[in-house]
Amino acid sequence: MPPLKGRLSGAKAKAIMKLSNLGEFGLIHAIQQRSSGRSPDAMIGIGDDAAVLKIGPAKLLLATTDMLIEDVHFDLSYTDLYSLGWKSASVNLSDIAAMGGVPRFCLTSLGLPARIPVKAVMDFYRGFNALLRIHKTVLVGGDTCSSKGGLVISVTALGEAKKRTVISRTGAKRGDRIFVTGTLGDSGAGLELLRNADCGSRNDKSKILNPKSAIAKLIERHLRPMPRVEWGRQLALSGCASSMIDVSDGLSSDLSHLCEESNTGALLVADTIPFSSALLRSAYQLRKPPLHYALSGGEDYELLFTVPPARVKALEALHIPVTGIGTITAGNAMFLVNAAGEKVALRPTGYNHFKKANDRS
Ligand code: ADP
Ligand code: MG
Repeated sequence: MPPLKGRLSGAKAKAIMKLSNLGEFGLIHAIQQRSSGRSPDAMIGIGDDAAVLKIGPAKLLLATTDMLIEDVHFDLSYTDLYSLGWKSASVNLSDIAAMGGVPRFCLTSLGLPARIPVKAVMDFYRGFNALLRIHKTVLVGGDTCSSKGGLVISVTALGEAKKRTVISRTGAKRGDRIFVTGTLGDSGAGLELLRNADCGSRNDKSKILNPKSAIAKLIERHLRPMPRVEWGRQLALSGCASSMIDVSDGLSSDLSHLCEESNTGALLVADTIPFSSALLRSAYQLRKPPLHYALSGGEDYELLFTVPPARVKALEALHIPVTGIGTITAGNAMFLVNAAGEKVALRPTGYNHFKKANDRS
């Protein structure tokens, strides 16, 4: 893509320079175009779930970083600090999982407003380290400073992978089957339930909610997601997956990232998208159908990946809970076969910073 200023002039150039016009992914693309250069040791740089860096003849370092900003990514009126710590670790380890790698180390940077008590910070690290321990990952550094605004959290995760097995977003080919691990939509539905004023604050809710109830399960999946590290690793070691991404923005958006990077299109079949029984049982309390939360909700942190037809048998032999939801196609367009059997265009409607909720592509 040519430099933005070179392409447009006058009022149009000014308009496109607004973040809301460029959108999150347009801005990342512009940053990528202006990178200081390329290194032969950066096998994968900007554009995938994690950077893949050569540090030995066969060893690869995986590096990824994610920020969580108060009132953008979380709301302290319904998020406890233990869950926030857990989730901050999860979202980063999920990007290592999406490359088929093994997470090893994390660094955390905090911008702390004066109103946050020490106990809250300690609760954050209890949750953070609990998730790290499950995945044998260690906190090795970070940075701490005050914030005049909201609470700011930045986490960097480092992992490793072998050269042969790392899975990028770029390897999908026409005819490959599209699969997803676990179930989709729970996290988005859980967020809606948390935001729903009728439910009251999280503290009220934990008193009234039976932890085994469907609603509690959806909320749990939003507040304490589990990165699919072991499944990602099995997919990588078995050589089944031709491309992979984690579902952080929403199925429609994450599939569009995968298609863009692989230069393909996709056909999804709505009826095959897997939903949890908790989501199906909560239909009455939710404003939208399960498909909406799967396509647009995001933060499920499941793995979305493609498998060449000849490798589908090998995938089944892994006994990972996966569901086939469509096929990679030629061209760049995405389509969905809806419940009525009609083939309709599928737009990326998941989360995009800087865009309004109804204009998320
Ligand atoms: P994910 O949702 O998997 O965390 P993102 O959509 O945040 O991925 O980022 C996509 C790609 O863009 C990644 O390779 C990431 O490292 C890169 N990226 C995002 N923001 C920046 C930035 N400000 N500078 C450089 N690279 C960035
Ligand atoms: Mg990702």
